[in-house]
Amino acid sequence: MFIVLLGAPGSGKGTVGKILAENLKIPHISTGDLFRKNLKDKTALGKQADEYINKGELVPDDITIKMLNEEIKNDLEQGAIFDGFPRTENQAEELEKMLLQEGKTVDIAIDIDVPFEEIIERISNRRNCTKCSAIYNILYNPPKDENKCDICGSSLYQREDQKPEIVSNRLEVYKKTSSKLIDYYKTKGVLYPVKAGDRIKKSSDDVAKELQEYLKSFK
Ligand code: AMP
Repeated sequence: MFIVLLGAPGSGKGTVGKILAENLKIPHISTGDLFRKNLKDKTALGKQADEYINKGELVPDDITIKMLNEEIKNDLEQGAIFDGFPRTENQAEELEKMLLQEGKTVDIAIDIDVPFEEIIERISNRRNCTKCSAIYNILYNPPKDENKCDICGSSLYQREDQKPEIVSNRLEVYKKTSSKLIDYYKTKGVLYPVKAGDRIKKSSDDVAKELQEYLKSFK
């Protein structure tokens, strides 16, 4: 099964993606995580992407598509959950081509819709593990030990692009690019929209549960 997770930064794609990947036993491929790994390892690709990520802009399509291609080549057998990819219509078309070469297609594109005010609050309280990819919210999902990851014990930090001015730019970019992508998957007949957020009492765990139920009908 090939799943695409759409939704603004901070909408819970990462959390939902991890739960679904574990449940369905398929890889969770987050282009944001791949870029951050390249930045950390100071690779040539990381250096190219750095200026865009730190400004909250999208990394150009050619760099992003090349990175994704490298990641998934020879490994499309089991299916995958794409988190944060595609983010442009061009990327969506490229993904379709990559899958088609293997006789596969995107089965479902999940659009997680959370109000922007809530997203800003969520992201500014978010902390990430410096070692594994665990995510915490210091108000709603704090680590047991202040500033330490429950899973691996490493220290937590706030990403540069989780700071308020960069978050607003990321949301502006999302506003400009998301509707075309949503229309793209609607036209393909695979869009599954979910309204989520604390104010309607639907957490990322609830979203994942709902999706797991829905996905049973695909088996
Ligand atoms: P994320 O963690 O998915 O919000 O991604 C963090 C940052 O990585 C984004 O703000 C972009 O700068 C970059 N990025 C991640 N995925 C993509 C993509 N599919 N296309 C372009 N840039 C991306």
